[in-house]
Amino acid sequence: MLDFCIIGSGVSGSTIAHLLSKKYSVHMLDKARGPGGRASNKRFIQNLSFDHGVQYISPKSKEFLKFIKTLCKKKEAKIWNGNHLDFTFEKKDISEKFIGMKGNNFISKYYTKKIKKSFQSSVKSIFNNKYFWEIKLDNGENIQALSVILTCPFPQSKKIAGKYLEKKMLNLNINMEPNITTMLAFKNQKTVSVSSIKFNDDILTWAAYENSKNRFNSSKSLWTLQSSIGWARKNINHYKKSKKVENTLISKFLNFTGYKKDKIIFKKTHGWKYSYNLNGSPLKSYWNKKLRLGLCADWFIGPKVENAWLSANDLAKKIK
Ligand SMILES: Cc1cc2nc3c(=O)[nH]c(=O)nc-3n(C[C@H](O)[C@H](O)[C@H](O)COP(=O)(O)OP(=O)(O)OC[C@H]3O[C@@H](n4cnc5c(N)ncnc54)[C@H](O)[C@@H]3O)c2cc1C
Repeated sequence: MLDFCIIGSGVSGSTIAHLLSKKYSVHMLDKARGPGGRASNKRFIQNLSFDHGVQYISPKSKEFLKFIKTLCKKKEAKIWNGNHLDFTFEKKDISEKFIGMKGNNFISKYYTKKIKKSFQSSVKSIFNNKYFWEIKLDNGENIQALSVILTCPFPQSKKIAGKYLEKKMLNLNINMEPNITTMLAFKNQKTVSVSSIKFNDDILTWAAYENSKNRFNSSKSLWTLQSSIGWARKNINHYKKSKKVENTLISKFLNFTGYKKDKIIFKKTHGWKYSYNLNGSPLKSYWNKKLRLGLCADWFIGPKVENAWLSANDLAKKIK
C-alpha cells in the first residue's frame, strides 16, 4: 500500500513530496497539465513562454535563501537583473529577485524529478475507511494510500477534506483573492532596457518583460500583465465571457508604455480565482496523526513561494 498521496504539485506539494520520499512511498496528483501550481510557466510554442503566476522570489529566511542559492549553483535558478521600475510610492524593494533558469516552476521541477506523479488527475473527494484513504478522481479512478496530504488553496482543500478537518482548521479565516493575468506578444519591437514595471494604478499593477529574463532569443516582445486585486474581484467571474475585461487591461498597458495595439500577435488571459491571501493564520501546517491527514500550503503563513516551502518543511517535521 502507498504511504502518502499528495494532492497538488505546487511548491508546497513538491517540497513535501521530496521530503517524505526520503523515507516513504509517495504519489503526487495534480489536476493541471504540468508541475508548479501558481508558480507555473505557460509555454505556448517555442520561445513563447510566460511566468504567468509567480514573478520572482525574494527569500527572507536564511534556510530558504540557502536553498535558492543552492539551486543557483546547480543552474536551476538565477538573479533577475535589469531595470525594475517602480511607479508606486511604496518603500523601495532592494532585495534580489530570483527566477527559474527556464521558468518559475523550477522548484517543483527540481524536487519532483524522481517522484511518482500524475497530471490531469483532479481529485473529487477523499474517504477514510478506518484503515486507509481512498482518493477518488474525477475520471473515475481510485487511489489508495495510508496518508493523504492536501496542498491546494484553502477553499479547494476544504471542499475535498472538509468533513475530516478539525474545528481549528475549519474556522480559519483565510480569504484568497483573485488576480487576472494577460500574456502578450508584440511583433517587430525594439528590445527595451526594462525588466519589470510596478504601476500606480487601480487596474494594472505589474508588467514583466519576459525577454529580460534572457531565457530565449526572440524577435517578439513578450509581456506578462497582472491586475490589481480590487479590479480582479469585480471581473474574475466573467473575464472569460467578456473580451472587455482583457481589453481594459491591455489598453492600460498600451497607454502607459506606448506599445501599439496593431503589433499584438498573441494574447491570452488567465484568471486566478485563488491567487493569494492577505492574512495568514496562527498555524504553519496541519497534521492529524490519528487520521493521517495533512495540509501544507503558502496560505498558512502568507502569500509567497517561500511560505509554501516553509509550510511543507514544518509539516515534514510534524510527520516525523
Ligand atoms: C498571479 C500571482 C502572482 C504571484 N506572484 C508571486 C511572486 O512574485 N512571488 C512569490 O513569492 N509568490 C507569488 N505568488 C504566490 C505564489 O504563487 C504562491 O505562494 C505559491 O506558488 C503557492 O504554492 P502552493 O504549492 O502552496 O499552492 P499552489 O501553487 O496553488 O499548488 C496547489 C496545486 O494543487 C492543485 N489542485 C487544486 N485542486 C486540485 C484537485 N482537486 N485535484 C488535484 N490537484 C488540485 C493545483 O492545480 C495546484 O497545482 C503569486 C501568485 C499568483 C497567483
